Amino acid sequence: MPAAREPVVAYVALGANLGDARAALNAAMEALDELPGTRVTARSSLYRSAPVDAGGPDYLNAVVRLATGLTAPRLLERLQKLEQAAGRERPYYHAPRTLDLDLLLYGDARIDSPRLTVPHPRMGARAFVLLPLAEIDASLVAPEALAAVAGQRIERMR
Ligand code: ADP
Ligand code: MG
Repeated sequence: MPAAREPVVAYVALGANLGDARAALNAAMEALDELPGTRVTARSSLYRSAPVDAGGPDYLNAVVRLATGLTAPRLLERLQKLEQAAGRERPYYHAPRTLDLDLLLYGDARIDSPRLTVPHPRMGARAFVLLPLAEIDASLVAPEALAAVAGQRIERMR
């Protein structure tokens, strides 16, 4: 019988920029809390950011901290299912609502497989990841990292 797994502390970035993005992020945070063996233990504020390398509406972003018994590949699978479910929601509306869920950190694991890279390779270049992450756990984000993304337009929402 396998030993019970200690929960792992993981961080997930959420983003949406179509339809009711705020509702999509709030629903996603609740869905994450309902994943098997998983709890949301911290939520950042919502942030509004300009799309990077793309046109279109501003994004809403947030980061959550999880305590999870899921393995990293299983957690990624669940994130992708939630993205798909959000895309299918209310198909009669103007456009499909998008939801992007990225696994930023999974304990201190370093993973480099075709489907999953952890820590997330682009997190260090994105203000919309670093600011909400620093809001939850300031020790995870170096001041130099924040300085490097200071030119990106982003606003914390009340
Ligand atoms: P973005 O990099 O803008 O979030 P996508 O969400 O379209 O782009 O990328 C999804 C792909 O990235 C998936 O096929 C997934 O397998 C892969 N991927 C690799 N590492 C990660 C990670 N840490 N979190 C989420 N997806 C990842
Ligand atoms: Mg993604």
